[in-house]
Amino acid sequence: MRTAIVNLGGIISGDLAAPTVAGDAILMDGGLIVEIGSVSDAALRGCDVVIDGGGAIAAPGLIDSHVHITFGDYTPRQRTVGYLESYTHGGITTAISASEVHTPGRPKDPEGVKALAVAALKSFEHFRPGGMRVHAGSVILEPGLEDKDFSELAARGVWLAKAGFGAFADPMEYAPMVAMAKSHGMITTMHTGGSSIPGSSGIWGSHVLAADPHVSFHVNGGPVAMPDEDFPRLVDQSEIALQVCTAGNLRTTLLTADLLSGAGQLERLLIATDTPTGSGIMPLGVLYTITHLCSLGGMDPELAIAAATGNNARVYRLNSGILAPGRDADVIILDACAGGSQMGALSAIRNGDIPAVAAVVTAGVPRFVGRSRNTPAAMKTVRVAQSNIMQDFAAPAH
Ligand SMILES: [Zn+2]
Repeated sequence: MRTAIVNLGGIISGDLAAPTVAGDAILMDGGLIVEIGSVSDAALRGCDVVIDGGGAIAAPGLIDSHVHITFGDYTPRQRTVGYLESYTHGGITTAISASEVHTPGRPKDPEGVKALAVAALKSFEHFRPGGMRVHAGSVILEPGLEDKDFSELAARGVWLAKAGFGAFADPMEYAPMVAMAKSHGMITTMHTGGSSIPGSSGIWGSHVLAADPHVSFHVNGGPVAMPDEDFPRLVDQSEIALQVCTAGNLRTTLLTADLLSGAGQLERLLIATDTPTGSGIMPLGVLYTITHLCSLGGMDPELAIAAATGNNARVYRLNSGILAPGRDADVIILDACAGGSQMGALSAIRNGDIPAVAAVVTAGVPRFVGRSRNTPAAMKTVRVAQSNIMQDFAAPAH
């Protein structure tokens, strides 16, 4: 499928080092971006679908790096079907599993946690709810896992490992297991903050520093934060990516962003939702955290968007998250919401308003054009200008 977007009012790249791209058009083919900035008339004539951006801006599809995936598009925690598809209407085009810990009756023995991770990984290889790419299969680190188990998991394609829900008496015991997972090429993540299992201790700065995972999961608290003095320790004494989550402590989200910005290491800031959880299902969660960082924390919207896209992509080694030739064709169109005081998506975000999601394209395929089911309508008109496909790209009505 060959898809183009034209008449854009701006292009946000998702790349912190060069956060905007000059031009007004994007060409996608075979699931990848092939041209960005300008697209020739000849190339447009060969397109299956051309979307008129109407002066709104394009950004990479958002990557939520903390989603409580189980199986199918279903969350047992909130007993809801279809939440992932709903997240695409919040601009989230990639979800990364925070481990399949919410699976009812989930196993805790080594064979069980391995089987769970492999089953989850394979269940989502060809299943794209609403067009979203789901990276599932994060092995939950439990006592008894040995090097040969990680070797077996890696051979089966499992590349995520999660510390924090295991039956360890002391969180310090995670360190050798995180090292083992890393030695097999896995991206390792660690619960941070108050305890998630009654009776277990909190995981604070010293534990995270000792384990040295790739990502400190919800460093701002999930949902309860570690002590303030541990934040500068993680920033200054490690290279760990610091993930801030919507369903957590907002004050420490702003603290984390300030510390990383002051250290000149904003590339370590990752945005995620940590949902579905007791905090609910939050299709607009990533957009809210972007808006909080900008309206309350003074961050530039282009950089906050990069924290939710290119930064996540770099740490998790994904080909999405950045708008550039050769990258996954996951693109969203954002604008100010109709009826607000701001004229564009970026000024709306600075103002503290979430932006409207006016279109979502994943793997080069338009999933909806015109209006998201979950945001107010856009101020500008985003529409299909040309199509040779018998399909209505309007989002289904409520
Ligand atoms: Zn979580």
